[in-house]
Amino acid sequence: MSSRRQDALDYHSQGKPGKIEVVPTKPSVTQRDLSLAYSPGVAEPSREIAGNRELVGKYTARSNLVGVITNGTAVLGLGDIGPYAAKPVMEGKAMLFKKFAGIDVFDIEIAEKDPEKLVETICRLEPTFGGINLEDIRAPECFYVEEQLRARMSIPVFHDDQHGTAIITGAALLNACEIVGKPLADIQVVCSGAGAAAVRCMELWVSLGVRRENILMLDRLGVVYEGRTEEMDPYKGAFAKDTPMRTLREAIVGKDVFVGLSVGNIVDAEMLKTMASNPIIFALANPDPEVPYEVAIATRPDAIVATGRSDYPNQVNNVLGYPYIFRGALDVEATVINEPMKIAATRALAQLAKIDVPDRVMEAYERSALKFGREYIIPKPFDERVLYWVAPAVAQAAMTSGVARKELDLVEYRERLME
Ligand code: NAP
Ligand code: MG
Repeated sequence: MSSRRQDALDYHSQGKPGKIEVVPTKPSVTQRDLSLAYSPGVAEPSREIAGNRELVGKYTARSNLVGVITNGTAVLGLGDIGPYAAKPVMEGKAMLFKKFAGIDVFDIEIAEKDPEKLVETICRLEPTFGGINLEDIRAPECFYVEEQLRARMSIPVFHDDQHGTAIITGAALLNACEIVGKPLADIQVVCSGAGAAAVRCMELWVSLGVRRENILMLDRLGVVYEGRTEEMDPYKGAFAKDTPMRTLREAIVGKDVFVGLSVGNIVDAEMLKTMASNPIIFALANPDPEVPYEVAIATRPDAIVATGRSDYPNQVNNVLGYPYIFRGALDVEATVINEPMKIAATRALAQLAKIDVPDRVMEAYERSALKFGREYIIPKPFDERVLYWVAPAVAQAAMTSGVARKELDLVEYRERLME
């Protein structure tokens, strides 16, 4: 067994199995403590909440508790491995929510593939949670499931594989375009992938200023063209083009941006050579990008290249988004995570990349020069400033767009997060 594999198995199995546990926040030492924590004392907050449901946030952990919920149908790059096998991934997400934003998580793995039944099940969990992070649910069902839940629940529901990815790639795109001096409205984009991440990334890019008519999308069957009937759904259909092109090799010619949210190693050097000058190449498939970083850089020294990998510059990683987006949304008790909140998070991330990086972040990465430019277009996942940049931006957008149930003084809030 390779040592990496054994290390990972040992990491999960040693000590208490798994990665998370529940920790009480109130004393439970004396008889008195117990009589307050449980019967008879606990009846008092229960009576209060029964009289006024709004008080649930005052007397329970609900307002800082997110449900990370999956049915295990599209786990990482592993595919439909089912809800049990998805559990380590969901525990991992729980760990990162806590580490980066102090948010508590219950991971919920549901043995249900039928989207309608999944919606029914998740809907009924609203009393438990302050927010729902959907995770690793297969496309196109994931679009329907999220739409239904957003309509039926009055807490934020956010499918991270869709929107988290969109926000991080959006930030990377804003900065990459600025560096190469191409306005978003002018760029021609080819997007390999038409699944959860690709569709939502392209929708957000359109909100940011990319023209829908300038985006050509491909899936396993090739170009998504007008009139195609095989394996179409309305979500990828929104990007269908009237074009004779059918393959990625044809579609990539002359494009300013290649974005890959599909599978590894489907782009070769010859294809990259046909792209426009100063191309932007976001090869984001995990664990192997659509084209290896070295090949992209060697073939196109004029390119800005990003991948999902931590061992190269410009890592696009969702951990830059969800902890902070939920932090901001929970702290103003937002009813949803809407488009203005997503755009605010995108712009905050893009902006932060232009600010000098503190030494302690540099040390964590053993890189002496993390300075805004071709090899540093988005902040690093271990940059603790992301918390107090993104969460207040999201909170502010929630307040101004009218979906916050609680008003915050943003200056005070930001200072509190910096502590
Ligand atoms: P998904 O919903 O399963 O979508 C995958 C898409 O890729 C589908 O549209 C699929 O086509 C398409 N595809 C598969 N093989 C292809 C090929 N040979 N050529 C072109 N398209 C192909 O998965 P997802 O959640 O969107 O994720 C997609 C990829 O992006 C994964 O590798 C994932 O790891 C990566 N990702 C990376 C990040 C990051 O931060 N770096 C974030 C999110 C996702 P069909 O529709 O025809 O099956
Ligand atoms: Mg995921």
